[in-house]
Amino acid sequence: MSKKNPNLTAEQKLVMFEDGTEPPGTSELNNEKRNGSYHCANCGVKLFESENKYESGSGWPSFFQSLPDVFETKIDHLLGYTRTEYHCKNCDAHHGHIFDDGPKPTGKRYCNNGICLVFKPNSKTWNKHYKNVKIFFRSIQEKWRLKRFFNETNC
Ligand SMILES: [Zn+2]
Repeated sequence: MSKKNPNLTAEQKLVMFEDGTEPPGTSELNNEKRNGSYHCANCGVKLFESENKYESGSGWPSFFQSLPDVFETKIDHLLGYTRTEYHCKNCDAHHGHIFDDGPKPTGKRYCNNGICLVFKPNSKTWNKHYKNVKIFFRSIQEKWRLKRFFNETNC
């Protein structure tokens, strides 16, 4: 049963529910290198961890492994040859195709349309940002304190 998220864009609907494919090299997620997890853009279920992503050179975000039991597969012949299509087990949204030319240890390549994924950086990454912001503000405070001290002593 397909449960379409009403917030999907036309492009997302086309890829996830109407056999579309995003043009290669167009996804910002191709260059996403941060630690975090990749979720289904339709239903939000977590599908991949960033440590299972790799650079395949295909122009689509590629993973050598998904989280266990999140996808169902079927064979399709859309391009005139046999491919293994995979879709979100929870909502039926199409995500991509699995090929057998991936790196070790699985040898699999999950070739995923970036448009079907939402990346969520790890909270650790956010904490680090937060720490940097705190340090930045503390340094400003320090500067003001020094300035005041300097002004006072020069009166
Ligand atoms: Zn889903």
